[in-house]
Amino acid sequence: MRATIIHAPGDIRVENVPAPKITASTDAIVRTVAACVCGSDLWSYRGVLPVAEPQPIGHEYVGIVEEVGSDVSTVRPGQFVIGSFVASDNTCPICRTGYQTSCRHAQWVNGAQAEYVRIPLADGTLVAVPEQPAEDLIPSLLALSDVMGTGWYAARAAEVKPGSTAVVVGDGAVGLCGVIAARELGAERIIAMSRHASRQKLALEFGATDIVTERGEEGVARVKELTNGIGADSVLECVGTQESLHQALQSSRPGGNVGFVGFPHGSQIEGQELFFSHVGLRGGPAPVRAYLPDLIDRVIGGRINPGKVFDLTLPLDEAAEGYKAMAERRAVKTLLRP
Ligand SMILES: [Zn+2]
Repeated sequence: MRATIIHAPGDIRVENVPAPKITASTDAIVRTVAACVCGSDLWSYRGVLPVAEPQPIGHEYVGIVEEVGSDVSTVRPGQFVIGSFVASDNTCPICRTGYQTSCRHAQWVNGAQAEYVRIPLADGTLVAVPEQPAEDLIPSLLALSDVMGTGWYAARAAEVKPGSTAVVVGDGAVGLCGVIAARELGAERIIAMSRHASRQKLALEFGATDIVTERGEEGVARVKELTNGIGADSVLECVGTQESLHQALQSSRPGGNVGFVGFPHGSQIEGQELFFSHVGLRGGPAPVRAYLPDLIDRVIGGRINPGKVFDLTLPLDEAAEGYKAMAERRAVKTLLRP
């Protein structure tokens, strides 16, 4: 089969490799219908994370179940499925609390930018769509596999409630999906922090009511101006830098909540700053699996269209260009079709 392999930073190749096989009775093999490049894939592409040897890459996918192990009972060959980027049993005590990415048997999915992908713990990880979806729904269903689920978690972690005010820090695919989530959870005012015209436009389309282009202290001052001088009830931090985390904490009102889903890059929180802020803080890798059934319904029912974050679609064989376009910020997010 054809599969995307990262050989070294900046060196992405699509090659012929053996197709994956069932290795445990709880596995499924999924024929990939669409996959995509994640912002986190760019860490190894940019050399922020080391690439010791050539390795398969990709963890966001939708596809058709090709084969299941003998212990798989909730999905069957022929079904169109979506799964999280972390495989989970969905039955352990942690999964039952809704934190499937911390499952006791969690396994990170990899190798999804390929014609086939092996999904461990298929019963707990994959959710079947009721019927074969229309072609135009595929990007939005694919987005649920990571970015939309992560934006949803950011809004939940920041405790967005009906009538509340939310700030979204970050205008990448996750931040834009965070705007959708804040709107769906009933935020009355949604302030998107963005300096890019095309992303501002999409944020407004997704439900943002205000755009703040300033950053740092100026950005915080602008948010305060828009929120009666006190800051927002909920802040979704979707970047992961020191500056963005600080901006998120400062943009929250006393007693507000920050949901942080941007992977932290050396960011630190000072104890007294957090103590005196009265801000609640929750983050981590999003338990996407918990939200899949609800989000699938919202996509199929036409309530949300997170697939609009994909602004570049390429055949799988052109994955290298998909990475390059994202690394050079010519694309927000690349969709790959095997
Ligand atoms: Zn579990």
